[in-house]
Amino acid sequence: MKKRVVVLLIVPLPLAIAFALTALSQTPAIDWEKEKPEILKHYRDLVQIDTQYGNETKAVEYLKKVLDAEGIPSKTFALDPNRANLVARLKGNGTKRPLLILAHTDVVAVQREKWPVDPFGAEMKDGYIWGRGTIDDKDKLTAMLTTFILLKRTGAVLDRDVIFLAESGEEADPTGVGINFMVNQHFDEINAEFAITEGGGARLENGKVAFVNIGTTEKVPRRARLVSTGTSGHGSVPRVDNAVVHLGTAVGKVGAWETPMHLNETTKVYLERLASISTPEKAARYRALLDPQRAKPLQQYLAQNEPGLYSMLRTSVVPTMLKAGVGTNVIPSEAEATLDIRAMPGEDIDEFYAEMKKVINDPAIKIVPIAATRPEAPPSRLDTEMYRALETVSKRMYPGSTVLPTMSTGASDMAQLRAKGIQSYGIGPAVTEEDRAQYGSHSDVERLSEASLYKFVEFAWNAVAEVAIRK
Ligand SMILES: [Zn+2]
Repeated sequence: MKKRVVVLLIVPLPLAIAFALTALSQTPAIDWEKEKPEILKHYRDLVQIDTQYGNETKAVEYLKKVLDAEGIPSKTFALDPNRANLVARLKGNGTKRPLLILAHTDVVAVQREKWPVDPFGAEMKDGYIWGRGTIDDKDKLTAMLTTFILLKRTGAVLDRDVIFLAESGEEADPTGVGINFMVNQHFDEINAEFAITEGGGARLENGKVAFVNIGTTEKVPRRARLVSTGTSGHGSVPRVDNAVVHLGTAVGKVGAWETPMHLNETTKVYLERLASISTPEKAARYRALLDPQRAKPLQQYLAQNEPGLYSMLRTSVVPTMLKAGVGTNVIPSEAEATLDIRAMPGEDIDEFYAEMKKVINDPAIKIVPIAATRPEAPPSRLDTEMYRALETVSKRMYPGSTVLPTMSTGASDMAQLRAKGIQSYGIGPAVTEEDRAQYGSHSDVERLSEASLYKFVEFAWNAVAEVAIRK
């Protein structure tokens, strides 16, 4: 320390400043205690804006005002005037390609009578903030907004552009107003090397973060209908080609079908690391899954006891809807079932349908694919600067935690971004098992603890700083 002071005294001033800047990190230090009231204000304000389907522009107006006050220009893009998207960009020096930080503004519908609190009140009690969107996705929206504002205020020197996107229609987008509109019509505005958004999280156990999930890939919705045909007739006369009977048998077969298990880079690492933090019994099971010989007899155990993991290991087929018949005494000539099929990334879906046809083994049943809602995309890599940064920050902020790259069984707007070549990663705040199971996304009592909110904003800032701020 003393030595550096001497050096600073004998070199010319501009050189001294340059020296000090390289000696210290150029990442500005943030006083997080001081930031808390502002973070909480934005978060509560955003939760209080009711952005159920078709009302996203209200949130965009709020964000625009906030950015205007910071002197950050923003643009809005709206296919539907009530469902606008907002984009803002902080310029970097172009050393690296841009980073996209995004969150959706819309929330799923509420049944008010089921809520113990006002779903748009952002009420604070027991250390939590309660309301629709508190965990999906206004927490990410607040974290990205705060990070973006702080980059501007601190005057951080950026090696790459940082783009903030507040998008509409993530939860329901039948007309393509959100990510599809941005990707198809305004891709130049959001094109980036990396993206971070919802799709991950961390688990609190006894007040400490045990593991951090980073979303790196997701399954691909590839739904289909089973259509059964037979001869119509009077309900008093049984027929062997009864369409309802054939459909019932087919649904039973696909429902019980143990589809082949596949591992990819993400699920392999996931299982290895999960084993390292599990009880000996569970760990042995997770390790056995990495060995094809030993994995096979475990599948039915997983199907019954760990259905989420069972689904993560395969293309899944779940019958969800049935349609048949017009009257108790009428044999219908047609009956149909809807299958929610979630494919592993890389699955050859035509081959899969052909395999399913063999399992059904009934010429009376036709498999009719339903048009795909999301594109197929390869998993985001685990060897990128962004992924490494997320690991580094997780370990630094949550000492002793394990980072799990995760494949979601659901689908998100990262599918569209990954399909365009953007390496995209899902992050999220730390919650307890109770929070996740009872107060999670889309539940009637969404909530997030105030402490986790602040910590998550800090996490987002650190992750962005790590890859975007000049070192
Ligand atoms: Zn969401």
